[in-house]
Amino acid sequence: MSQRTGIGDGTRAVRAGLPEPVKHEPALPGPVFAAHYHLPGDPTGPYTYGRDENPTWALLERAIGELEAPGQDGVETLVLSSGMAAVSAVLFSQLRAGDTVVLPGDGYQALPLVRDQLNAYGVEVRTAPTAEDAQLDVLDGARLLWIETPSNPGLDVCDVRRLAEAAHARGCLVAVDNTLATPLGQRPLELGADFSVASGTKQLTGHGDLLLGYVTSRDAGLMAPVRRWRKIAGAIPGPMESWLAHRSLATLHLRADRQGVNALAVAEALKGRPEVTGLRHPGLPGDPAHKIASQQMRRYGCVVSFALPTRERADRFLGALRLVDDATSFGGVRSTAERRGRWGGDAVPEGFIRFSVGVEDTEDLVADVLRALDDSAS
Ligand SMILES: *Cc1c(COP(=O)(O)O)cnc(C)c1O
Repeated sequence: MSQRTGIGDGTRAVRAGLPEPVKHEPALPGPVFAAHYHLPGDPTGPYTYGRDENPTWALLERAIGELEAPGQDGVETLVLSSGMAAVSAVLFSQLRAGDTVVLPGDGYQALPLVRDQLNAYGVEVRTAPTAEDAQLDVLDGARLLWIETPSNPGLDVCDVRRLAEAAHARGCLVAVDNTLATPLGQRPLELGADFSVASGTKQLTGHGDLLLGYVTSRDAGLMAPVRRWRKIAGAIPGPMESWLAHRSLATLHLRADRQGVNALAVAEALKGRPEVTGLRHPGLPGDPAHKIASQQMRRYGCVVSFALPTRERADRFLGALRLVDDATSFGGVRSTAERRGRWGGDAVPEGFIRFSVGVEDTEDLVADVLRALDDSAS
């Protein structure tokens, strides 16, 4: 897909983070379960205690770094126990009482909780929508700009390069939540961000069987406080989850490509339906986000959002789907969908559906969606 940096995404994904081959050893060494390591004498690294270092994390961190910033030296990645652990690690390690941070007003549903906590610590929080780069208007005096693009669940997109330039001109750091795009869809560091932060729970690992988060940066000085935060908060991933995540990265390009094809097909099918409003997918030509998305993204993710006329209609539609589970989260190999309003928190209509497209055969999935729309009409 689009421009290459040396090798292609698939070639890179299957080998990302693998150690040099060693005779009689597996290509991807198994998970290392260790609370502590043999450590006679002076306690020097690399492996001392299990909350600080783990060889299974080290390989996964190298792999994610290679995908987030191919061919770049000095890239540092830290894996954490969940996406929220990663989000909190950046915000709470970089901000002090008296600082100002700009968050998206339409971002991940736990951000309002983070906002309350930041306020409690004396950090001023400003919010603005993702669409039309509205965060530009509230940057003056801010220490950190938090971008989520595409935003979850509204799928608005902002111009990362433009926002990062404006923020840096004001001495403001920039972090991008790259969860929805994955590093194969978007490379925030190349677009000028200081941090790329994501939940690995979603499409990155793609099987709905683990929680994980990570932070990547090219600036060791910025990463030191994040590492310290991971140590003091203890928000570390288990070795088994880390190993499963690394194993899953080898199919990321296959999953992302199929999910992209399926997402576009589902979106095109929904476009023709009179009961569907507010249809959004950044890969859909004509979507308000498509122009900027096509300039800064290499894949458009697997989420399609839209609304049905009422809550009841949306519930009937979800119940009528046979190939799509009614479940939260997104990015997995099996399609899921949910009525987002059931959680409260997101500013969405009652009939709003966030649809996460899996890797099923395209025709089967589209047929299931269209049949469920028909069956739920009355
Ligand atoms: C899910 C999600 C998170 C939080 O990730 P967890 O792994 O659930 O903690 C953060 N940001 C975005 C955009 C998400 O979709």
